[in-house]
Amino acid sequence: MIAIYPGSFDPITFGHLDLIERGSKLFERVIVAVLRNPNKTPLFSVQKRLEQITLSVEHLPNVEVDSFDGLTVNYAQIRGASVLLRGLRAVSDFEVELQMAHTNKTLSTQIETVFLATSNEYSFLSSSVVREIARFGGSVDHLIPPHVALDIHKCYAHNKTTSNPKITEAVPPLNN
Ligand code: ADP
Repeated sequence: MIAIYPGSFDPITFGHLDLIERGSKLFERVIVAVLRNPNKTPLFSVQKRLEQITLSVEHLPNVEVDSFDGLTVNYAQIRGASVLLRGLRAVSDFEVELQMAHTNKTLSTQIETVFLATSNEYSFLSSSVVREIARFGGSVDHLIPPHVALDIHKCYAHNKTTSNPKITEAVPPLNN
């Protein structure tokens, strides 16, 4: 059985990775699919996110990384997948995820949404939390893979240097 794990992954976190690792034990193949969303301005380009995820899952032979646009169920059908894998962190996730699962069911009865509960240690973790901490110069090394941490620090260090030289002085230097 093939599962699609769709999302923004802007950037991928240890919470996403935990879900991917657990999903890879349950399904024959997991396709991590980055949604190309023209309505959002992401921190990282789709290409960069694909690179970040590919490097993060290289130890998992049955995990593939791809991007898509349009309806997730259409993409799932094209890829021969019968499952959409999603994570649940809190009740707030549940409401949105349930609505999305029901909507997708009206579009395709062949595709099931499977939810995995977050692991305890990642229940607070989201890409936006990571972006927020990094934006103010905090360490995110415990939340995302090292190569992604490097990318995000570079990104914000660059933004601060170019847009607000005063704040740059308060940001610790890059650790590379
Ligand atoms: P979206 O933009 O659709 O919210 P995300 O990339 O943020 O996409 O998340 C993709 C999926 O991963 C969602 O189902 C989300 O609930 C799940 N997820 C994100 N962070 C965690 C986490 N820390 N633990 C479990 N699931 C998570």
